[in-house]
Amino acid sequence: MERRDFMQKAGWTGLALSLAPTILLARNKPFELPQLGYTYDAIEPFIDKQTMYIHHQKHHAGYVRKLNNALKGSALEGKLLVDILGQVTTVEENILQNAGGHYNHSLLWETLTPRGKELPGKTLKEAIEQSFVSYEDFLVTFRSAALGVFGSGWAWVCLGDDKKLFICHTPNQNNPLMRQVENTYGTPILGIDVWEHAYYLKYQNDRATYVDNFLKAINWEVVEQKYMEASK
Ligand code: MN
Repeated sequence: MERRDFMQKAGWTGLALSLAPTILLARNKPFELPQLGYTYDAIEPFIDKQTMYIHHQKHHAGYVRKLNNALKGSALEGKLLVDILGQVTTVEENILQNAGGHYNHSLLWETLTPRGKELPGKTLKEAIEQSFVSYEDFLVTFRSAALGVFGSGWAWVCLGDDKKLFICHTPNQNNPLMRQVENTYGTPILGIDVWEHAYYLKYQNDRATYVDNFLKAINWEVVEQKYMEASK
């Protein structure tokens, strides 16, 4: 039995963060907007309450609604999110962008923390040092990827097929799970949204300060958990 089938049959509901394997195993029946697990003002002062509210209740909710509509009657209807992302092509632009939007934001909410100031744990720290020499070098590369996105998109920390971490960026709501669309393939463990809707209310055109502050709000415990899941 495949792991994902086991998770389905074992009745996993995705309610408890510490037990949730990944949003990727959610099935379209239809997809639902996930809860944040914290209040809209919890990430202040790094990300403001109004941005969090609009981003979750308007943008993310819109991706979920449009994705469910786009999937109706398509060959990808009823599939797991991981399979939709892996199989969708640019021909199905509506499914592509909204499936990406749903996955990208679900991961984003999970990897933010109200507590802040955390550092990667031992396992993730060692993996980071193996791929980027040091945690500081890793931050420089991630920051520069986030600033390097022209227009709307995301910067990612991913685990590649070779089990090494790498950093990349993708346009729009694309992500490195889209094997039919992106050249660089991997499983994201952390992503930063650099669409203007993610920061413009508070930071206006100052993406650099937004990126610096985002880095102070990362839940490294969850990112490490994502790393260990992807490493299996
Ligand atoms: Mn967004």
